[in-house]
Amino acid sequence: MSLGLSNSTTDGTLSKPEIEANFKDLHPLLSQMQAQAESSRCLYCYDAPCIKACPTGINIPTFIHQIATDNVTGSAKTILSENIMGGTCARACPTEVLCEQDCVLNESLQQPVKIGQLQRYAVDHLLGRDVPHPFSRKPSSGKTIAVVGAGPAGLSCAHRAAMLGHEVTIYEAKSKAGGLNEYGLAAYKMADNFAQKEIEFLLDIGGISIQYNCGLNQQVMLSDLRQQYDAVFIAIGLSKVNQLNIEGEDSAQVLDAIDLIEDIRQADDLSQISCAENVVVIGAGNTAIDAAIQSKRLGAKNVTLVYRRDEAAMSATRWEVDLARLNQVKMIFCATPVAYHAETQRLSLAKTQIKDGKVELTSEHFEMDADRVLKAIGQKLDSQKLDSQQLDSQKQQQNFDLKHQKIAVKRNYMTSLQGVFAGGDCIDGDDLTVEAVQDGKVSGAGDRSLSNGTGVKHG
Ligand SMILES: Cc1cc2nc3c(=O)[nH]c(=O)nc-3n(C[C@H](O)[C@H](O)[C@H](O)COP(=O)(O)OP(=O)(O)OC[C@H]3O[C@@H](n4cnc5c(N)ncnc54)[C@H](O)[C@@H]3O)c2cc1C
Ligand code: SF4
Repeated sequence: MSLGLSNSTTDGTLSKPEIEANFKDLHPLLSQMQAQAESSRCLYCYDAPCIKACPTGINIPTFIHQIATDNVTGSAKTILSENIMGGTCARACPTEVLCEQDCVLNESLQQPVKIGQLQRYAVDHLLGRDVPHPFSRKPSSGKTIAVVGAGPAGLSCAHRAAMLGHEVTIYEAKSKAGGLNEYGLAAYKMADNFAQKEIEFLLDIGGISIQYNCGLNQQVMLSDLRQQYDAVFIAIGLSKVNQLNIEGEDSAQVLDAIDLIEDIRQADDLSQISCAENVVVIGAGNTAIDAAIQSKRLGAKNVTLVYRRDEAAMSATRWEVDLARLNQVKMIFCATPVAYHAETQRLSLAKTQIKDGKVELTSEHFEMDADRVLKAIGQKLDSQKLDSQQLDSQKQQQNFDLKHQKIAVKRNYMTSLQGVFAGGDCIDGDDLTVEAVQDGKVSGAGDRSLSNGTGVKHG
């Protein structure tokens, strides 16, 4: 891989152009020749395993064949008909554990077809052209749907429901749509304001309006939505961050990793973001890796990722871990922080051991310099956003059943509340953009959920 850092200046800090270079697109768009050559490697397998490995079931051999035969617009339509956020997924999907892992070329020890990069080639081709939206709406069904949360799950649901002729209103707590596509995915995966370009394209279908700064059970009440709309789809993601519960955690130097990531994503000038010298990131998933790499790319001298288990137990993919190492991120395994000392800017840690699958602290301790500690130990559902005891006077049950501390849903995505559906990170399952898009798509479609469940009915 050649995705490492640009050189730093002699005093170790980075100049503005160097920082900008470090946050450029991780995988620049394939040229036409590269796309042709790569698409010609596909064997167009019958019963292609790559399709089954794609959570949205994109017909991968078909879209690759369309690129090979110079029908790039047709290729984009094939992708977008199953995954309206195929542009983001082409950039952010861990294809190495999804479609590309199952590509048959792996069996003959060849590199798998670069499905993600070909997908991006096709979708960017369509989005970069001033052409009408490729999908049209069915005649009005006369039905209305409220979607709560404008992340990938909510937007995907809205698009599919709008296609079927329903009128959709999205209630979004923030001032911008996109969810983690806009605020969370690493800046070098979503360069050039791609999240907003994709949303603009998606909304072009018509029939979708967005109410910004409108949080559930804050500015808008669930009981009201249930009365006003034929169905409600909840897609609020996971907005609470797990805490370390250690001494000194409230120090200014100890931050939630997602807050730094959001600042980076929203910055007009990355050189204005404060850059620490010794950054310690606690965690082992995507968020930890992204926070560590982006800290290094901002110019931190030392970035160390600390995880309480061993490397094999990390939830980040092998590709992400390799990328972190290539970006000079150090890693310490089987250790956990026990206290932060703001006056000396030192982090105390204990070595851990795993017994019967459980993490235990040992008596072995050590310290590290840390003028910034980034917590990335997982996010959870903010159940307060769903707490609607005060609405009991409506004589409607307003409390959701939970499963694994997320909203419990049936196979048709219906929650324990009649006519209220949910999808994306806020329900049980893998927390990936592509899974959220699929939840939204299936929920918004007519076959087995809100469009013909007890909510909206259509023929
Ligand atoms: C730092 C980070 C990096 C990631 N990187 C990747 C990656 O590289 N690849 C990948 O596939 N996945 C990645 N993920 C996971 C992926 O981003 C999520 O799985 C996906 O965004 C989930 O979509 P969602 O629509 O369910 O939730 P979200 O994207 O979280 O969107 C939820 C939306 O609901 C809104 N909302 C919240 N509460 C309320 C409320 N009370 N009322 C109204 N609106 C509300 C939010 O503002 C937001 O717009 C990453 C996650 C994080 C945190
Ligand atoms: S498995 Fe690989 S070779 Fe076969 S259709 Fe899919 S991408 Fe092409």
